[in-house]
Amino acid sequence: MDDSLVCPSCHIEVRSTDYFCYNCGKNLKPKPLSTSLTQQILIYLGSVFLPPLGLVWGVRYLRQEDNTSKIVGVISIVLTAITSVLLIKFTNDLIKTVNEQVNSQLQEMQGF
Ligand SMILES: [Zn+2]
Repeated sequence: MDDSLVCPSCHIEVRSTDYFCYNCGKNLKPKPLSTSLTQQILIYLGSVFLPPLGLVWGVRYLRQEDNTSKIVGVISIVLTAITSVLLIKFTNDLIKTVNEQVNSQLQEMQGF
């Protein structure tokens, strides 16, 4: 079992479990974000139902080194954008419908 590593920056011995070198603060192994199917589904669902969160996740995944994570990030941001547009359109339609109903009710009331 290998419990020690050498910091690539200052060559001091560090524990393999450390994420940062205690001497120079170098990020020894950035915790990779999961790109498992389950995680991807969760992110896409989050992008659709919790738009601001999807954007945060998207940016976080875009910053990862590997291509899979970058793709997950792009999809997440695109989904968030589409959902936001649909949400704005839906809200506008709803306001329009409510306004029309209120107007017709008012006209009925004025008729009496
Ligand atoms: Zn170091």
